[in-house]
Amino acid sequence: MPIDPQKKMDLLVSLCKRRGFVYPGSEIYGGFANSWDYGPYGSQLKKNIRDAWWKRFVECREDVVGVETPIIMNPKVWEASGHLDTFSDPLVDCKRCKHRFRADHLLEAAGRDAASTDLSGIVCPDCKGELTEIRNFNLLFKTFVGVTEDAKDVAYLRGETAAGMFVAWKNIRDSLHRRLPLGVAQIGKAFRNEITPGNFIFRTREFDQMEIEYFVKPDDGSAAFETWLGEMKTWCEGILKISPDHLTYHEIPESERAFYSARTIDVEYAYPFGVKELYGLANRTDYDLSRHQEASKEDLRFLDPETNERYIPHVIEPTWGLDRTVLVTLLEHLDIDEAESATGDAEPRMVLRFPAVLAPIKVAVLPLQKKGGLPEIARELASTLRSHGITTEYDESASIGKRYRRQDEIGTPWCITVDMESASDHAATIRDRDSMAQERVAIEEIPGWIEERLSKI
Ligand code: ATP
Repeated sequence: MPIDPQKKMDLLVSLCKRRGFVYPGSEIYGGFANSWDYGPYGSQLKKNIRDAWWKRFVECREDVVGVETPIIMNPKVWEASGHLDTFSDPLVDCKRCKHRFRADHLLEAAGRDAASTDLSGIVCPDCKGELTEIRNFNLLFKTFVGVTEDAKDVAYLRGETAAGMFVAWKNIRDSLHRRLPLGVAQIGKAFRNEITPGNFIFRTREFDQMEIEYFVKPDDGSAAFETWLGEMKTWCEGILKISPDHLTYHEIPESERAFYSARTIDVEYAYPFGVKELYGLANRTDYDLSRHQEASKEDLRFLDPETNERYIPHVIEPTWGLDRTVLVTLLEHLDIDEAESATGDAEPRMVLRFPAVLAPIKVAVLPLQKKGGLPEIARELASTLRSHGITTEYDESASIGKRYRRQDEIGTPWCITVDMESASDHAATIRDRDSMAQERVAIEEIPGWIEERLSKI
């Protein structure tokens, strides 16, 4: 059943808190704006997405390797990469209500060129007041390394994970002796002092990124760009099961692209609060390695074993925000339909129809009664399922209907009910979350039954 977009975010935010996906951060101290705690189901969902990504793009490919580089690096990295000068957002304040906005967002909303520096005619969207001139605000978080807060000890929290991979390139090149193309992947935290954080976990000041720097021969950039565009589509539509109707692959015109980018496509999602960026794909040419080569005075070129030529590889960079992936996975699969209540009437049912591989809990084992040996059989089945690596919950509280509702709301694909016959027929009933169809399966065959379905997705 379609959910009104205005209501969808509120429904989702309250479901996330009530059921343990995402809570407001630092809540017992009155909260801390735009910080969020991932609860038991949220952190498991995030882990499942992270694992699916790593498996698909690192473990299952021979041309991509993984790394883990630090959040705090030598500050020279950020000087060379250009972040100290240009990693900024254009900021305006309302002179009347003092609210703060990103100028590029206001320009975009007005249908104008987002990169323009001319706001003429645009007023404060909140109070129609006059806006200040545009100022550039650097997004890097500053910190101090060591015991004194001395200017010479200033360092930065990384604003993106990519820089660490460029800095480690020389060591990766020299330790692996691989041919190109070679991708380097990393998952980790990035920090940005965002001017306008908000919309739940869409824009926060600390977030996780999953990035690949795909190093290619200089002439191979355009073809590799197309390949990664295809990979990003498959990820969105085939793994996350996002409807293509909710996705836009937005070719960024040259006037709005970073100057070093030969081509950029933003993958956008139709959030309830508007069509906005989910992921990015950029052809960064040889910009980053050239800058680091110049600043570090190290030779970062690649010696081509076929031609004996030395060149700086070009780089295709697909970037996935992990928290935005969690958000779209929740939004895309949140549904309300009808189920039969205890009294036999139809009542609304809220359900998260996650793809089974991403669901935080795969199976719930529910004894129909707390007596008659049913809890023992159910507990044993739950523990067998866990020993197969299947995340399983055991629940004997409340009525069976309430227990089903709870599992529907956390997106558990299968509920297994152990009933009075189970002791004699050694079987239990498996209920499918989406069709609500029930199937009787021999208890000893249940782990295999679940594994078979998980492996198909
Ligand atoms: P935006 O235009 O939304 O500010 P961006 O173009 O600055 O994003 P990139 O620098 O391309 O973003 O970052 C890559 C990815 O990291 C984004 O596509 C997004 O998924 C994620 N991301 C960026 N900023 C944030 C943030 N503040 N909170 C959560 N995720 C973010």
